[in-house]
Amino acid sequence: MKEDNCIFCKIASGEIPSKTLYEDEKFRVILDLGPATKGHALILPKDHYANLYELPEETAGDVMKLAKKMAEQMKERLGCQGLNLVQNNGDLAGQTVYHFHLHIIPRYPADGQKIGWQPGQVTQEELEEIKNEITG
Ligand code: AMP
Ligand code: ZN
Repeated sequence: MKEDNCIFCKIASGEIPSKTLYEDEKFRVILDLGPATKGHALILPKDHYANLYELPEETAGDVMKLAKKMAEQMKERLGCQGLNLVQNNGDLAGQTVYHFHLHIIPRYPADGQKIGWQPGQVTQEELEEIKNEITG
């Protein structure tokens, strides 16, 4: 399940070389070429799924298990003192490569990065409405 002209398909299959931290039958973990911090890595499934919506449920579980394994290795080897997992879906959300990937971003004191959002304000009534919109 590869897609022609998908760079992450080519990287995941090994057709395009990458700095690979881990590989098994289903995944390749590579160093990001435009790293936010030292050790910024991407978990790539070898099969092509454009985003989280296309990702099979079982693969989604496997991705998180692998993220935990990589996080532990980075903490031990790089001595990072924090870590962000980031996963963008759709251009509005900042996705630029349309092959599912999970960013693993180790964090260090004064690393100059800021990963977050502007907190908004909401009333309890609005929260109730939103809850009902999603689940009702
Ligand atoms: P996103 O914006 O979530 O789609 O993230 C795409 C990420 O892929 C960015 O962090 C890029 O730096 C990274 N990237 C793009 N091309 C390559 C490549 N050939 N090898 C490694 N990382 C890449
Ligand atoms: Zn792909």
